[in-house]
Amino acid sequence: MKITQAEFIISAVQPHQYPDDALPEIALAGRSNVGKSSLINRMIQRKNLARTSSQPGKTQQLNYYRVNDQVYFVDFPGYGYAKVSKSQREAWGGMIERYLQQREPLKLVLLIVDIRHPPSADDVLMYGWLKHFDIPLCVVATKADKIPRGKWDKHIRMIRDKLQADPRDRVVLFSSETGNGRDQLWEVIAGAAGI
Ligand code: GDP
Repeated sequence: MKITQAEFIISAVQPHQYPDDALPEIALAGRSNVGKSSLINRMIQRKNLARTSSQPGKTQQLNYYRVNDQVYFVDFPGYGYAKVSKSQREAWGGMIERYLQQREPLKLVLLIVDIRHPPSADDVLMYGWLKHFDIPLCVVATKADKIPRGKWDKHIRMIRDKLQADPRDRVVLFSSETGNGRDQLWEVIAGAAGI
């Protein structure tokens, strides 16, 4: 995908702040530090547009990026941050659940996991929500550069097993470091967004 435009739009705290131009939305979910910001930056070929550091206090905002005036990336707050309070966790859950349930322009959720480790309990929960709400999803196994190529298949199988993933769900191998998987992921996104 040739990137002609990429822009941070808003950190939305309330649904009324979500854009109202009806462009398709691709959401990104994953635990803090999994590599979501790096993935966004690699996808849109900007070094620092998405901030590469987790912001544990900001459990209630959705970061919107508009790309090529065609699609939004919607970055969910990273989950699984140990110091977040119970009430913050609940607020997070409420916001995400409402978004997943009600957001009409949502076309696809990218569930980002670290290829090196089995998905966490929170990843499994998120996968379950997506299935429950019948939302198209693509699992992205990032940091692929961190393990030898010969182990990729085994790790992808481990991820599928832990999520009990539907065989029809795609798992895209990715590296923000090398750009591996970028074209394939754009294909998945373009297909889902109809662009
Ligand atoms: P976020 O909290 O999910 O937004 O995670 P970040 O994008 O800030 O990444 C967390 C850390 O992992 C940073 O030090 C990144 O440089 C590193 N990182 C992210 N993606 C990759 C990757 O594909 N390969 C490698 N080697 N490091 C990565």
